[in-house]
Amino acid sequence: MPFSSLSHIQERLNNAETTAVEVAQLYLNRIAAYNDTLNAFVHIDSAHVLAQAEASDKYRAEHGARALEGLPIAIKDIFCTQHGPTQCCSNILKDFHAPYDAHVITKLKEAGAVLVGKTNMDEFAMGSSNETSAFGLCRNPWNTDCIPGGSSGGSAVAVAAALTPAALGTDTGGSIRQPASLTGITGLKPTYGRVSRRGIIAFASSLDQAGPMTRTVKDAAMITAAIAGHDSGDATSVADAPGPQSQADWLAVCDQKDMKGMRIGVPKEYFVEGMDADVRVQVEAALKQCEALGAELVDISLPNTNLAVAAYYVIAPSEASANLSRYDAVRFGHRCDNPEDLLDMYTRSRDEGFGSEVKRRILTGAFALSSGYYDAYYLKAQQVRTMIQQDFLTAFESVDIIATPTSPITAFKLGEKTDDPLTMYLSDIYTIAVNLAGLPGLSQPCGFAHDLPVGLQWIAPAWREDVLLGAASAYEATSHWYNKTPQAFDQPSGGET
Ligand code: GLN
Repeated sequence: MPFSSLSHIQERLNNAETTAVEVAQLYLNRIAAYNDTLNAFVHIDSAHVLAQAEASDKYRAEHGARALEGLPIAIKDIFCTQHGPTQCCSNILKDFHAPYDAHVITKLKEAGAVLVGKTNMDEFAMGSSNETSAFGLCRNPWNTDCIPGGSSGGSAVAVAAALTPAALGTDTGGSIRQPASLTGITGLKPTYGRVSRRGIIAFASSLDQAGPMTRTVKDAAMITAAIAGHDSGDATSVADAPGPQSQADWLAVCDQKDMKGMRIGVPKEYFVEGMDADVRVQVEAALKQCEALGAELVDISLPNTNLAVAAYYVIAPSEASANLSRYDAVRFGHRCDNPEDLLDMYTRSRDEGFGSEVKRRILTGAFALSSGYYDAYYLKAQQVRTMIQQDFLTAFESVDIIATPTSPITAFKLGEKTDDPLTMYLSDIYTIAVNLAGLPGLSQPCGFAHDLPVGLQWIAPAWREDVLLGAASAYEATSHWYNKTPQAFDQPSGGET
């Protein structure tokens, strides 16, 4: 049961083989047994989890089941929740309690989900290893000496070690897909604008998007269906977005069993020197399997791929420097002791509250936006962004979908890259272009290298999550990687039985 998919748990609930309270208790037991080792959750309120589960059982008995009735979902610490703290794993937001729920949290509640707690992450979602969290690092359940990826590392670990069957993450440059890949689970970043960003602590507003982290593709579709949709409180959330609408539409695309007639673009720029040879073997084997399912593999080129990381590390820090200026110690967040004057309060509070990676981004962004440098950096990066978008538009004239590795390497050792920001930034070399172009992307497990999970990334045209989920479902139906579980954490109720 603990490693069950969301849809399997749903089936058992619908057949009255279990209750939401029993399900919640099972995961709470596992959290109690394993979270000290993994540090996937930074906040858990067991009584509140059980109260939600009880309310869900009652709702089911009285009115029938809603789309996610009684299903546990963990929440990255970046989503505002009225209950419990919302800290973005930063000391500047230590003990901050949000006055309202993020739009997607409201949607999950309306669908009957049981929110399990807040998961660990890189501070303000800046990082690829979860090591910049102010609340301690988080360990990969496949090898606890390794990072889980980031920034949604806690959500990934919680799902991979079955401390929850599913979680929400956010993805600005790869933070759902890269940790999903490194922990052997499925992660979906929807098309920019499909999901409201209201109440999600802003990192880079033109790139941020929330999405599911799950055991299976169908589970990802279930959650996306629940959280997608227009919100008048977020001007960038799109009204009348094309693609699947109802929960049933979203689930129907997951019935795809083959890839007949599907043209899969394989960009040569994603299979270059520097990628781990064993990762390459696994991804190429997965592509062969897609061919066997009826797909045609087409060599394509995305010529500006090598510019994506550079453009991202101008655009994302620029937007971050603006977004993070709100932490002024006046309205909310940490305030230093005994400030001498207003300026001292601003500077000392921010110095004490932000970690070094966040400071690095604020400095880079403020510099890139400063007068005299704007044209050379920010404007130039936006031009490159347009070129990258154009590359994808051209590619999608001849293919239905693109397949790539999610990450050039498997999970690396804790501490290995913390002193070298540039190498760390390269972790997202295969995921960043998708955010710059606003496209949907999905990572799913496709094998192991060095005894660690390898991820396959699917990229579809804007609003074509149906194509993405269809391809990923067909691949999943003939592969068993998603069923693998990390042995050290596979005792049913957390080790005590
Ligand atoms: N690792 C990238 C960064 O540090 C992406 C983070 C994210 O997607 N939130 O900015």
